[in-house]
Amino acid sequence: MEKKLANELVDFIYASPTQYHAASTVKEMLDREGFTELFEKDSWNLKSGEKYYLKKNDSAVIAFEVGTGSVIEDGFRLIGAHTDAPGFRIKPNAEMKVEDQYVRLNTEVYGGPILSTWFDRPLGVAGRVALRGESPLKPEIKLVNINKPVLIIPNIAIHMNRSVNEGYAFNKQKDTLPLVGFVNEELEKKGYLMSLLVEELGVNSEDILDFDLFLYEYNKGCVMGINEELISTGRLDDQWMVFAGIKALLGSEKIKATKVMVCIDNEEIGSLTAQGANSNLLRRFLERVVIALGGNTEDFFRALANSVMISADLAHAVHPNLPEKHDPTNRPKLGMGPVIKIAASGSYSTDSVASAIFMEVCNKAEVPVQKFVNRSDVKGGTTIGPMSAADLGIPVVDMGAPLLGMHSVRELASVKDNFYTVKAFTEFYNIK
Ligand code: ZN
Repeated sequence: MEKKLANELVDFIYASPTQYHAASTVKEMLDREGFTELFEKDSWNLKSGEKYYLKKNDSAVIAFEVGTGSVIEDGFRLIGAHTDAPGFRIKPNAEMKVEDQYVRLNTEVYGGPILSTWFDRPLGVAGRVALRGESPLKPEIKLVNINKPVLIIPNIAIHMNRSVNEGYAFNKQKDTLPLVGFVNEELEKKGYLMSLLVEELGVNSEDILDFDLFLYEYNKGCVMGINEELISTGRLDDQWMVFAGIKALLGSEKIKATKVMVCIDNEEIGSLTAQGANSNLLRRFLERVVIALGGNTEDFFRALANSVMISADLAHAVHPNLPEKHDPTNRPKLGMGPVIKIAASGSYSTDSVASAIFMEVCNKAEVPVQKFVNRSDVKGGTTIGPMSAADLGIPVVDMGAPLLGMHSVRELASVKDNFYTVKAFTEFYNIK
């Protein structure tokens, strides 16, 4: 059962090479379970106990089940995670010739990937394309996944970079551009990238106006280790928590509170977008739910006062080769359960109230729980937790499943923690 769930996670991530595909994979799961899609432009007519979702700009999804109680008295039970992952985004006019023989694509870095892990791996291209639509104000949107090994970022030989193993500063405009192949007369006219898109989408090149395209590792992730206890794949941060939250939403019972799973985009670049956490997307959405259920603005604020949220991102596990990088007394490990993240700086939203809530959820679920704080001489990351807590004014616990190699093209996690996290989230949604 645990291994089956791990393989399901690997499949979910493989089907989701970009945030657009993650949102679409989530949508497919929700459609299969009878969720109804809502649209921002419509008036919403929500019913007690019914299941709905809202997509935002193709890369965020908010899925929810209306509680059987009163939304004012019973509030919202929220889990939030992000669909995007660090990597490379293709620039406009991307083709660059070198030495009259090679063609590379011009890219820029999205978020903070570990650059060295992207070298010498066959890469695919995926994302979203905007096509000419019926009106200039309404382009037609198509997702695209060129699931072929079409690109590679080749390393330079060690003989020409003798210091590479002592540390090397990669130049993001020079060292990391992917090779797409050799100069070719026919492709020269049509455009190398454009030919790929035209072939994949079956449209005319004149109709392609623009795109949001990203590189991804072509090879699929796997379950591994001597006893198949590990999971090796890209984008565990944070598609794993998207997967776990959706699984919990689908696998939990109807309760009085309204259960919400927020899959939001652009965490890796600071969240300040229409579909990111540093917008009023979530607050506006929650207010609309209250209004659609017959409430007013005061009812919305009362509902918030009865709400609680889990901000689900990932947590650093103690590294077997560098155990000294961790705090001396808080040492989360792979396979030992979800991790509550705490920071005196407020870069995680957890306080003792939020922490106590999550600890009790885990206790009830019979799931072990660990704690993470940064070493005091190390500056850690942040999440959507603080923004959500500040915006909604509700307790938000920042937690994550333990991980090694965060932001590597291949992150490492454990089969057990996947099971534990889904179990804890399901319990959170089940508490009466
Ligand atoms: Zn993350």
